[in-house]
This record gives sequence, C-alpha cells and structure tokens, in this order.
Amino acid sequence: MSVRVAFLGPPGAGKGTQARDLAREWGVLHLATGDMLREAVAAGTPLGLEAKRYMDQGALVPDDVIIMMMAEHLGAADAVRGFILDGFPRTIAQAEALARLLKDLGQALDTVVYFDVGEPELLRRLTGRRVCRACGHTYHQTSNPPTREGICDACGGELSQREDDREATVRKRLDVYQRQTAPLLGYYRQRNLLASVTGEGPVATIRDAVRTAARAER
Ligand SMILES: [Zn+2]
Repeated sequence: MSVRVAFLGPPGAGKGTQARDLAREWGVLHLATGDMLREAVAAGTPLGLEAKRYMDQGALVPDDVIIMMMAEHLGAADAVRGFILDGFPRTIAQAEALARLLKDLGQALDTVVYFDVGEPELLRRLTGRRVCRACGHTYHQTSNPPTREGICDACGGELSQREDDREATVRKRLDVYQRQTAPLLGYYRQRNLLASVTGEGPVATIRDAVRTAARAER
C-alpha cells in the first residue's frame, strides 16, 4: 500500500500540520518545498548552492532546480511507500513538470487534496500573530493569547504585529495564491484527481476527512 498525494491550499489553510501528522501515520515522506530548499542550501549541496544564487538576489528559484531537488527525494529510500507534497505544485507549469518527473520514476499522483478555507478564517489565522519585542516569544490573538492583552507572559515585554502579518500584506499573499491556484484546481479536476476537504473546524475532524479523501479509490 502506497500513498502519493499533494496537498494544495492557501497560506494558513493548515495543510502543513496535516501533512506532517499523516506522513508519520502512513510512513511516507513529507516533502515541504520550502523546507527542502532551506535544507539543501544549509547542506551546501550542488543544487542547494544553485538555489542560493537566486535566493540571494531575491529571485524565485526556477522550477527546474526545484524539480531536480524533488527527484532526489522522491527517488530515495524514505519515499518508497509514497509521499505527501506540501506546497507544490503551485502553477500549471509546475504540475506538468511534476507529472513528467513522476512518470520518469514510474510513479503517479493518487490524489490532490485541496484544503478549502474561507477568507475570513484565513485572515483571522494569518493576522492574529503577535510577537514580543523583547524576547521574541510568539502568541496568537485567538488560538494562543497572552494572559494580558498586548503584554508578553514570559517577560512582560510589549507585543507587536510583524509587517508580514498585517492585513494588507496577508490579503496580497492570498490574492497571489488564488490567481495562481484557481487554474491548477481545474487542471486536477479534469484529470479526476482533485478532492476538496473543508479546512475549518477541529484538527482531528479535518484529518479524518483528508484521510478518507487521500485513500479513496477514484
Ligand atoms: Zn517576552
């Protein structure tokens, strides 16, 4: 029994948490593109060094570099029972490159799970973070609030909101995601691979829905 799935969803949809938990449960590789890039750069692998040249210039790492890195991981022993891709693909071009890579490896995606979360909930999750100016401890206004509003429990310092977490910035990120991803949902729906789950509600309920979606015969 193998599982080969990709989790799609906007920032704040909670797919990373589910991917980590389910990869452990299923004994498959959890491949988060951002982590993969950071690890390759830190380890100074040839592909990591190439990726770093783009990142140092503030440029996006080209798809072919990412795909070559993924090839190393998906062809390795820890992916023999399958994988969960987290944060990839994001565009049709990436989806097509991924399909070619998997074909070369004699594999295919079983399912693409889309985490559907409404914009009000995404904004709540993504704008609620507060960080202590003094000690760096982080809080969340609704899911992990400090005892006293605006004050750090750990050191009494003042809490503030990072630029990245401000509503205008978050809205821009969500808009970019929607523009890139809407065509991708159609792409996978046409291929009969898309399963949509509600990404709102208790974590365990969402996990049950993802489990069912990912392992259902399609
Ligand atoms: Zn503090």
